[in-house]
Amino acid sequence: KPAYERRFGLTNWNSGGKVPLGLKRKGLRIVVTGGAGFVGSHLVDRLIERGDSVIVVDNFFTGRKENVMHHFGNPRFELIRHDVVEPLLLEVDQIYHLACPASPVHYKFNPLHKTNVVGTLNMLGLAKRIGARFLLTSTSEVYGDPLQHPQVETYWGNVNPIGVRSCYDEGKRTAETLTMDYHRGAGVEVRIARIFNTYGPRMCIDDGRVVSNFVAQALRKEPMTVYGDGKQTRSFQYVSDLVEGLMRLMEGEHVGPFNLGNPGEFTMLELAKVVQETIDPDAKIEYRPNTEDDPHKRKPDITKAKDLLGWQPKVSLQKGLPLMVSDFRKRIFGDHKEAGS
Ligand code: NAD
Ligand code: UDP
Ligand code: UDP
Repeated sequence: KPAYERRFGLTNWNSGGKVPLGLKRKGLRIVVTGGAGFVGSHLVDRLIERGDSVIVVDNFFTGRKENVMHHFGNPRFELIRHDVVEPLLLEVDQIYHLACPASPVHYKFNPLHKTNVVGTLNMLGLAKRIGARFLLTSTSEVYGDPLQHPQVETYWGNVNPIGVRSCYDEGKRTAETLTMDYHRGAGVEVRIARIFNTYGPRMCIDDGRVVSNFVAQALRKEPMTVYGDGKQTRSFQYVSDLVEGLMRLMEGEHVGPFNLGNPGEFTMLELAKVVQETIDPDAKIEYRPNTEDDPHKRKPDITKAKDLLGWQPKVSLQKGLPLMVSDFRKRIFGDHKEAGS
């Protein structure tokens, strides 16, 4: 039996009514690497709310203490400043491994093979030693510039191994390989999520991703920078939908990989229009040359997650964007001075 099952004597403990009461009462001990980041901090909120004890491991490369500060003083919360490239000794039940700079601005500046490869190896070594269940947050970028549309988990992808984005794409592909190696070779209980573009409150304001750029630009009355002809597409998922998917994946019985994304597909020009409708109908658009190796389109096929995890996103771009905008307004202008008011 895999270590995790040996430890708890059960499988699939949160589905089909088979919730182990002991665990539920006491809560689990959970590590979230990258837990001070955008996605990680929302995940931490849900885990703490559920009654678990959470240890955030983060080196603050792109994360911020402000994202988790509201848990300071809670005995079930702990924050460790640590780079996952270095070994780590802890005793926990589950590891959500999110640590990894996720925006092109950051990963091109500081190529992150080390975090993806050595960091993931360390967290898998940790999972193996303590019999913890391990979840990897991989990415839709493993599909590269996809030749199949929408992307199904069985598609192997179209990735340039030596391009400017490869440190991220290939890094995550290696992380997936390591995860499966530890699963097959050492019996580690693993889960793999392939996350598609996600947005929401607490996103880095200046990390260069398209939703954060457009929202910050429109709020600051600067033109929205559309790269290329703006006809490339992405599918944007609101962060609460992603967190729900990650938790269902961790607690379900399937290894994956699972696409977690919102199938609603938008061109960058359509996205700019939604931002105009949400923030400022007069917001201007400015065209810029596109970046190298930019995927032309991306849209998840989420049939597998629907069937096996009973999961699908609930929040549309039109509903989710205003929630992110009010957070950005506060962070850009402070609580009292709002744009245009
Ligand atoms: P983020 O940059 O906000 O969070 C990443 C966190 O990891 C940060 O807090 C950062 O400080 C930390 N970190 C980075 N390197 C580290 C290291 N070596 N040791 C310890 N901590 C380290 O990004 P995010 O959007 O929250 O992404 C979280 C995860 O989800 C990442 O693995 C990312 O690849 C994946 N993902 C995100 C998206 C998205 O659209 N947000 C899409 C696909 C995949
Ligand atoms: N590791 C860790 N914490 C642990 C156990 C292992 O950080 O509790 C690291 C360890 O330093 C090693 C990696 O995980 O670099 C892989 O560990 P594993 O035991 O699989 O490999 P080995 O150490 O035998 O090469
Ligand atoms: N993009 C854009 N303007 C910006 C930032 C990005 O038009 O200010 C485009 C970018 O060229 C890409 C898409 O938006 O086609 C998504 O980029 P992002 O970096 O957000 O995500 P990823 O490329 O990793 O999916």
